[in-house]
Formats: sequence, C-alpha cells, structure tokens
Amino acid sequence: HVSVVLFTSDLRLHDHPPLHAALDSADAVVPLFVRDRAVAAAGFDAPNRSAFLADCLADLDASLRERGGRLVVRSGDLVEEVCRAVTEADADEVHMSAAHSAFAARREERLRRALEADGRRLFVHDTVTVAVPPGELTPSTSDHFAVFTPYFRHWAGARLRPVVAAPRRVPVPEQVKGDPLPGRAEVAGVSPALPPGGESAARRRVAAYWRRGLDAYDTTRDDLAGDTTSRLSAHLHFGTLSPVELVHRARRRGGPGAEALVRQLAWRDFHRQVLAARPAAARLDYRTKRDRWRSERTAGADILAWREGRTGYPVIDAAMRQLSQEGWMHNRARLLTASFLTKTLYVDWRIGAAHFLHWLVDGDVPNNQLNWQWMAGVGTDTRPNRVLNPVTQAKRYDPDGVYVRRWVPELRDVDAPAVHEPWKLPGPARAALHYPERVVELAEGLDRFRRARTGTEREP
Ligand code: FAD
Repeated sequence: HVSVVLFTSDLRLHDHPPLHAALDSADAVVPLFVRDRAVAAAGFDAPNRSAFLADCLADLDASLRERGGRLVVRSGDLVEEVCRAVTEADADEVHMSAAHSAFAARREERLRRALEADGRRLFVHDTVTVAVPPGELTPSTSDHFAVFTPYFRHWAGARLRPVVAAPRRVPVPEQVKGDPLPGRAEVAGVSPALPPGGESAARRRVAAYWRRGLDAYDTTRDDLAGDTTSRLSAHLHFGTLSPVELVHRARRRGGPGAEALVRQLAWRDFHRQVLAARPAAARLDYRTKRDRWRSERTAGADILAWREGRTGYPVIDAAMRQLSQEGWMHNRARLLTASFLTKTLYVDWRIGAAHFLHWLVDGDVPNNQLNWQWMAGVGTDTRPNRVLNPVTQAKRYDPDGVYVRRWVPELRDVDAPAVHEPWKLPGPARAALHYPERVVELAEGLDRFRRARTGTEREP
C-alpha cells in the first residue's frame, strides 16, 4: 500500500501532518514536488525565490535520503504529474497541505476530481502552512475578520494541534523516478546577498534567534540598523518551518519578545483569512477609496527612481537597494517605501507590490498584496490616510544613520542627522556627494495626496 505526499509550500520533514498521515497508513510513500508550469506562466518564479526553492528541494532530498528515501521532482502540469506518479506507484491516496489562494483552490479541485475519477483519494491537511486556518475564526456578522485586533483576540485563544515529530524512516518505492534536482547556480538574476534556503538552514536560524534576538524582539524590532527581526519570512513562505511549531516554541519561551513575535505570526494568518474570503483582493482594493493613482505613464520617472533607490530620500533609497541586494527588506523599511510610493508619490500600490514580488525571497501573495493595501489605505488599516514621514521615521529608527550609510555609499561620510536630510547641507558639501536630488518635496506630495483623498471616502 503506497501513498503520494505532494509537497507544495511545506518543504520540510518536521511537523508535517500530510507526511505523517501517509506514513501512518502506507508501507511506502512517494515524496513528490511538482515544478508547476502554471506558477512559471504567472511569472511567480522570480529569480530569488527560484534560487531559494532550489536550496529547499536539495535540503529536503538530503533529509529524505538520510531516512532511506529521496525526493521525486517533476515538471509540468501539477495535476497530470501527480496522477502520473500515482499510476506509476500504484498509490491509492494523495496527501497534501491546504492552500488558500483562488489559484490553489482551483488546482486542488482539479486534482481531487482527477484522482476520484480514477478511484483514488485526496487528503488535504489544513494546519501545515498556517497556525489557524482561514474560516476557523469568524465574527458573528461576516465570513472573515476585516480588522486585526479583534481577529488576534480570537486567534490567541484558538487551540493549536500538537507538533508532529519528523519521521525516522521514509521508504520510497524504486519504480518512481524524478527529474534531476534544479540547482541554485542555474538561476540568473539572483540578489548577491540572498540567504540560503532549506529546512536545515531554517532550523539553524530558529536556534540562533532563540539564543540571541527573540527576547528583545518587542523593543528592537523597529531598529533598522540593528537588523534584529527573526528573518524567518522566506522559511515561512516556503514552509521549511511550521508556523504551528513556531507558535508553540515561542509560547513555551514566554516573555514580551516571544509574545510580540507570536503576534506577528498571527498577522500571517490574518492576511490569509482575508484573502481566502476575498480572493479578488490579490488584485483589487479590499476597501476602495476610488483613487486615481498615478501610473507608469504619468509618473514613470518617479517610479523608476523609487525602484532604483534614487529618490533623494536616504532611508527610502537605502531600503530599495537592500531589497535588490538581499532579496529582503526590513519591515519598517517596507512600510516607509510603501507609504512613500503610494502616498508621497501617489502611485498605484500594484506597481509597488509587483516590484516587491519580483525581488522578495519571502514574496508572498497574501502578505505582500495585503500589506501594500494596508499601507496604501485601501486595505484593513483603520487609519487609511496615515502618511509616514521618511525623515522623522529615519531619525527615529536609524538615529545614527548606520542603516542609510550601509546601503547608500554616496552618503558614507555624512553623519547623522544630516545623513537623513542631505539637502540641508551647505551648497558645496551637498554638491560633492553625487547623491540625487529629491524627486518631490514632502509637503508637495502630502498636499497632492490629501487633495486626492478628500471627499472620496466610500464605505466598504
Ligand atoms: P519578523 O518581524 O521576525 O516577524 C516574524 C514573522 O511574522 C515573519 O517572518 C512573517 O512571517 C510574519 N510577519 C511579520 N510581520 C508581518 C506582517 N505585517 N504581515 C504578515 N506577516 C507578518 N511578508 C512576507 O512574508 N511576504 C511578503 O511578500 C511581504 N510583503 C510586505 C510588503 C509590505 C509593503 C509590507 C509593509 C510588509 C510586507 N511583509 C511581507 C510583512 C513583513 O514586512 C515581513 O514578513 C517581515 O519583514 C519579514 O522579516 P522577518 O521574518 O524578520 O519578520
């Protein structure tokens, strides 16, 4: 009796309920990963994530080999490839984890129908990529929570399933063969400082963070230069870490740092339950303000300056350069750059979200699209017209200018606070910097935004 375990956004062996269930009922399993051509067709296989994914698959294969098995990787249409593996292994069951996008829901339904037509069964496990699944918590008046704080109150009281141990042995039938594993080196256009992927790297990162960082997370998480957040986001995106296990571990640790991290993990689930209930929010405003955003056509030069880190606002430029160099950006910097693009430059949030999705190694549709909307004031923010001032925020969160100087070498020799406002330097000192002029004055940007938003509020 053989089962297929279809790996998707859950590239790990620890705390993996589908694998655990399959091994419980079968003598052997086929651990399968399909490089779905629909993902590539949607442009979602950006270089940084493809490179990170290659690491994840190599690491998963190595861990399976230590347990007497191996990973089977195939490319093509996911449903066809799963059915092919099922036939080759003569499997009667497929186990996989639930996913919550409209794309994943359609794909799952197609797979279920194809398997059932052939007399096989699909088992979908719903607490693999989230701690609390979408739809489990609902307010009395709606099918999902539209505001984080009440959601979090319920989320914090939800019962989590226990953690499932990694299997000791994973027997895989001989006759099912896969393609060669993709290699990170084959991917072009990768950020030079992209971190390594894979479950082993994820578990090392957790161990290091639990030793140093976690307990101070609540007080240091906004320190741009200190870089003291967990940097677990790409691991959570690819599922090399289990959110259920992380929440259990953080709660066991206790204290304000761990509690603050648990709250951030709840944001992940929050966005997933919004998107599961309103799939169109991946592209359309969750709560429209009828903005007539500036676009590539009307704001092309400003958008280019933003993308390339040449806006003349040091903290914005530092952040945008960190993004292309590392494939990751600090959360405070994401907030500042998103506020700058959508509110100061009044450019469509979708343009910013697409740029982020190209570079972010943790680029994730629910987290990215809904955080962008939150900052653009068309999402779940209860203060949709807030504008973050990049100068005051830079002075607060990068008081010594270390973050700015790390990423903007033109400002290497400028001290704080001038490093955040180079336009205030005396003429000759300013001219010697070879650093761009501001694309717009903050007051001018603010004015345009206020005029655009006045009188346009519309209830959801
Ligand atoms: P930590 O501060 O250590 O937080 C721990 C974990 O909690 C993160 O790894 C993440 O999984 C989760 N988390 C933290 N903040 C948020 C949040 N606001 N929303 C949802 N989950 C959160 N996160 C992504 O994972 N993918 C994205 O594509 C993404 N795009 C974003 C775009 C914008 C404009 C903004 C403002 C935020 C975005 N975030 C995104 C959320 C957040 O910035 C990152 O999760 C965080 O910076 C990752 O670093 P970390 O792992 O060190 O976070």
